[in-house]
Amino acid sequence: MNMVLLGPPGGGKGTQAKRIEERYGLKQLSTGDMLRAAVAAGTETGRKAKAVMDAGKLVSDDIIIAMIGERLGAADCKAGVIFDGFPRTVAQAEALDRLLAERKLSLDSVIELKVDEEALVRRIAGRFSCKRCGAGYHDEFQRPKAAGVCDACGSTEFLRRDDDKPETVRARLEAYRRQTAPILPYYQGKGLLTQVDGMAPIDDVTRAIATLLDKALRR
Ligand code: AMP
Repeated sequence: MNMVLLGPPGGGKGTQAKRIEERYGLKQLSTGDMLRAAVAAGTETGRKAKAVMDAGKLVSDDIIIAMIGERLGAADCKAGVIFDGFPRTVAQAEALDRLLAERKLSLDSVIELKVDEEALVRRIAGRFSCKRCGAGYHDEFQRPKAAGVCDACGSTEFLRRDDDKPETVRARLEAYRRQTAPILPYYQGKGLLTQVDGMAPIDDVTRAIATLLDKALRR
């Protein structure tokens, strides 16, 4: 099964993708994570992407499509993929259809997490993650059980993303409205789009997504 998780930055895509990954044995492909890894490794793609990401804008379609194309052939994608943060433009959505068709695969489900914009700025501004294992936390909504210690691995070092500053968040929301929201009618036209209330508690959102995926699997 291959699915796309859509929604604005801070909408909970990453959190939910990790949960679905475990539950359905799918592989999460997050273009944001791939780009951050490229930036950290100092590759050419990373160097090109860094300034664009820090400005809250979208990295060029060519770079993103090439990155996903390379990744899709890997053995860990065989059982199916959760696309997280991709596609973000109609051109990327069309390219994804081509990439899947070339491999005789198809998209089974597109789920949009619907969230309120004001809440997004609050959600994004407070988030941080464990430097060692990547577990996600939030100043307000999801603090570690013991202050300053990762629940999952015990590390005491945490990271905040460079592009989670309020002014960059606003640019990212604008990019979502202008460039990514037009994907919604694209997938609606194909009969693939369903919506989930992303403002609900995290476990409820996971349950709602699972219900939709179970239905898609039975089709
Ligand atoms: P994310 O972690 O998904 O919020 O992505 C962080 C940043 O990486 C975005 O603000 C963009 O600058 C860039 N990015 C991630 N995925 C894409 C994509 N599919 N297309 C263009 N830019 C992307």
